[in-house]
Amino acid sequence: MAGIYLHIPFCRQACHYCNFHFSTSLNRKNDFIPALLKEMQLRKDYTGGEPIETIYFGGGTPSLLETDELNPIIDRLHTLFPVAPGAEITLEANPDDINAPKLREWRKAGVNRLSIGVQSFFDEDLRWMNRAHDAGQAASCIEMAQREGFGNISIDLIYGGPTLPDGNWKANVDRAVGTGIPHLSCYALTVEPRTALDTMIQRQKKQDVSPEDQARQFLLLMDWTAAAGYEHYEISNFAVPGKRSRHNSSYWQGKTYLGLGPSAHSFNGKSREWNLANNAKYIAAEGSAIAELEVLTPVQQLNEYIMISLRTSEGCSVSEIIRRFGAAAAREFEKNAGAYILSGRMRRVDDRLQLTREGKLLADGIASELFFEPSHVDL
Ligand code: SF4
Repeated sequence: MAGIYLHIPFCRQACHYCNFHFSTSLNRKNDFIPALLKEMQLRKDYTGGEPIETIYFGGGTPSLLETDELNPIIDRLHTLFPVAPGAEITLEANPDDINAPKLREWRKAGVNRLSIGVQSFFDEDLRWMNRAHDAGQAASCIEMAQREGFGNISIDLIYGGPTLPDGNWKANVDRAVGTGIPHLSCYALTVEPRTALDTMIQRQKKQDVSPEDQARQFLLLMDWTAAAGYEHYEISNFAVPGKRSRHNSSYWQGKTYLGLGPSAHSFNGKSREWNLANNAKYIAAEGSAIAELEVLTPVQQLNEYIMISLRTSEGCSVSEIIRRFGAAAAREFEKNAGAYILSGRMRRVDDRLQLTREGKLLADGIASELFFEPSHVDL
């Protein structure tokens, strides 16, 4: 089973915190679609004929696509790839693009899951982030999508910003849970280098984020979502049973995925490829857009497994390390994890080493401490 990710590199306006690849100039959209179709054709063998279980339109803002742009893309995917019956087809949508006719068209095209970039139900927060939508649109779009028959909806929420006191954070989570949507993705606001937010903070035009506020709001989030019946199945993702994102789960399980469009990554278990992150160059490349290919060494594959699996609720399987990397690597990993078990940041459950609630606060830091140096182990 494999997945396909399509990067739609256009946005209506630039959110201050964003470091994804996108352009706010939409005038290349017409040339982008043929280039994407061409890339699809040229790379149709990447997934080796495996059934395509998930398709994910991300970005950028895929909800900016018109129906006569989206339909040919989905039609071509079905022509070129063995899309499995019941495949999960997700479209990321922003609240300001959502309306009843568009929702109907998306459903007709085969989209069966929406990931909506709500971020907050408060205007003050949305303005601070420079989102293109307002609180009214954030609130109404979910109900509208449900009315049009979308049951499988996820929304993104951002916490830890200076305009979000704990009370508003609780109101955001309560509101999301109250809509009955089965999936939430919640991210701590990160100040990425060279973003508008970074510059504004450095020039003291915006208040910086507080790591203490972020940690506290993450702990609160874990309590609230657990009480509402959501499984915390990945550091940033929460789902009611049976409604995990199949697409994102396949990344975390190391399955093959093909990434199409500017800046998209592809992965086949052994190597990773990156597409050009420039719309004009991507279009000019006429489908041959791979800018970089990295063949992962066994140590890199092991470190990637540690990083990704520790972020999931299942954790890191010792028998999987033995199977893929040998018993010596597993013994060294268990020895290194011992200190985190003693400090209460990790626990052992049968074959698996998992992060505890306190450990989840430091997920990426703990994973990188457990990484193997190339010289340390003979894999
Ligand atoms: S809509 Fe999404 S991709 Fe576009 S600028 Fe905002 S956060 Fe970034």
